[in-house]
Amino acid sequence: RSITLGENRLQVYDENTVVQAVRPMKLEVELRRAVETGNEFLLQYQPKVHLDTGKLHGVEALCRWHSPALGKVAPDEFIPVAETSGLIVPLGEWVLQETCRQLVAWRRHGFTPPVTSVNLSAKQLLDSEFPERALRCVLGHGLSPSQIEFELTESSVMTDPSLSINVLNRIKALGFPLSLDDFGSGASNIGHLKSLPFDCIKIDKSVIDDLGTSNDAEIVCRAIYGLGCAMHLEMVAEGIETEAQRNQLREIGFTLGQGFYFSPALSADELAAGWLARDYRSQDAESAL
Ligand code: C2E
Ligand code: MG
Ligand code: MG
Ligand code: MG
Repeated sequence: RSITLGENRLQVYDENTVVQAVRPMKLEVELRRAVETGNEFLLQYQPKVHLDTGKLHGVEALCRWHSPALGKVAPDEFIPVAETSGLIVPLGEWVLQETCRQLVAWRRHGFTPPVTSVNLSAKQLLDSEFPERALRCVLGHGLSPSQIEFELTESSVMTDPSLSINVLNRIKALGFPLSLDDFGSGASNIGHLKSLPFDCIKIDKSVIDDLGTSNDAEIVCRAIYGLGCAMHLEMVAEGIETEAQRNQLREIGFTLGQGFYFSPALSADELAAGWLARDYRSQDAESAL
């Protein structure tokens, strides 16, 4: 505990406050270094599945950071720091490049690459060149934009609605599918949904969590389902952890889901050995056997 006497001010710090205040700064310093060197990040892929058959529908790329100085840092901690520092722009660029590289590698190994979702932050939408750069990246790898879906949270879309709607429309016009992430997590503005060019909404884990134990959760899920159907949106239920949740979602009418009940995020090799080998072996590979 230390006491600082400034000009007419007395401030008292205890160690915890200092540790809490220093952590984001330290994180930013390490993150900046990591983004420059680029070899401390990797992507894991979480399956998106058909609720009835359990078969693979697509995957979501999720960024992992293993810092030599700080150990494993969770995305919920380093993504916000990357956003405020602007480092999300080069990091996001790396995530897209790496996703494309991986899809090509899977294809080379005889798997049909699944449609892969990449998370985008609001800061990336502020760059009006983003849609064209993303297209160049995808085409440069010999892929089509329909193979990469972008996920945006509603709060990030709402930072500057007029600007982001413009960029989103261009992303969509270039052929990338768009998904609205964390729907129902608090900032949902149903009125805006119709004016935004989304193909899919992902219902937030916090809504799914109470399914099976609370009537209210079921009412909310049924309402979202009705809304999604009326707007012709694809719907993915996120954070499914139990069979009871899956069954209730199926009963309501949902067809797609994601969650630890099916699988956590896996390394590219694990995904290939399990899910891709089972559901996504390409015709070429089969006839070659
Ligand atoms: P998100 O996009 O909503 O991703 C889903 C998160 O929920 C992932 O956490 C995933 O591991 C976790 N999850 C999935 N199913 C379950 C479940 O059944 N139970 C529980 N408890 N959790 C589940 P993760 O990987 O820690 O990522 C957290 C958030 O960080 C993501 O939420 C996304 O907003 C952000 N993020 C991750 N990678 C990137 C990236 O490359 N770029 C950007 N901009 N954001 C990213
Ligand atoms: Mg996501
Ligand atoms: Mg989400
Ligand atoms: Mg989230």
